[in-house]
Amino acid sequence: MQLDLDLTGRTVLVVGEVPSARHAVARAVHAGAVVTVTSGDRAPVRDDVRAVARPRHLARWRDLVDGMDLVVLVDATDDEERMIRASAARRTWILREPAAPTSPLGSVTLIGGGPGDASLLTLAARDALARADVVYVDRLAPQDRLRDFAPGAEIVDVGKSPGHHAIPQHEIERMLVSDALRGRTVARLKGGDPYVFGRGGEEVAACREAGVPVSVIPGVTSAIAVPGAAGIPVTYREISRLFTVVSGHAPLEEDQLRHLARLDGTLVVLMGVSTLPHLTAGLARHGMRADMPLAIVERGLQLSQRTTVSTLAEATETSLRLRVRSPAVIVVGEVVRLMHQGDDADRISRDVIALAGE
Ligand code: SAH
Repeated sequence: MQLDLDLTGRTVLVVGEVPSARHAVARAVHAGAVVTVTSGDRAPVRDDVRAVARPRHLARWRDLVDGMDLVVLVDATDDEERMIRASAARRTWILREPAAPTSPLGSVTLIGGGPGDASLLTLAARDALARADVVYVDRLAPQDRLRDFAPGAEIVDVGKSPGHHAIPQHEIERMLVSDALRGRTVARLKGGDPYVFGRGGEEVAACREAGVPVSVIPGVTSAIAVPGAAGIPVTYREISRLFTVVSGHAPLEEDQLRHLARLDGTLVVLMGVSTLPHLTAGLARHGMRADMPLAIVERGLQLSQRTTVSTLAEATETSLRLRVRSPAVIVVGEVVRLMHQGDDADRISRDVIALAGE
């Protein structure tokens, strides 16, 4: 429903054929309504919905509309006028909903879900979720209100925790493609941006290879938003005019460490908690100052967000002592000194452990 109506216990008539009316039906059921659908001679999509044949005459439309609080019009080409007249006569509200796609070939939409807070989903992400028949969701994607955003969709959790791959990547790709080939509208909800260490590129390639239409909706990346939530700007005039985002999934190579130690900007590391000792030792070995500030922001934008600030030399010991855990974003650079309590400190209780000695 586009309108925020409380339909609990209300009677709703969906005028349209199954399956093009399947999303409208699912939304109405999710909103708590008692739903009837005019389904021609085809069976309804679900057991909890009553199906009736479309009336041919105005009088029968009036009888049908009589007991309804709301009529949702999906496709009613032939009967539209009769239906509108019947609703007007009974003073019943009418809402129009777009028809769900019914082509034999479905599609896949990769959705950047942002760092986990549902309010950071884009409008495009919300639209794509609302149209989905199935949502494949990652561990770090926003999950709290997913049922409301994708009512009626099957929700499949393909979340991976570090070191434990719940479903192998090639299997995820196979599921996306095979669902789309069955005509389903597939949403693939990922944490952050799909193209930042999210294997989005591989999923797009798998869809293209199989001839499945695929599109990508960008998302707010944790690489920028999580430091930001801790009050750390990744750039700042005259302090840092570049930022480099690296994956700490595997230890960096010697050449890369040498290069990063000399960049003189901000270094942002994702998936870097377990390789932190290797990173800090490597940067130090290649000449980065021992007192370079280093912040670790755990569970950014969640209620339990915690920021630990230390230095290059002390970060490993501090993070072990404080039991720092993934997911976390590590920031190395002078910008860490600019950290403040954030603009929305009321909304998110932040636990900040400050630089030793400050
Ligand atoms: N595509 C994602 C990143 C995927 S890699 C993006 O653009 O944000 C997963 C890593 O992202 C985690 O190990 C962690 O380093 C970081 N991350 C994602 N969400 C986070 C959050 N809410 N708080 C802290 N780190 C987060």
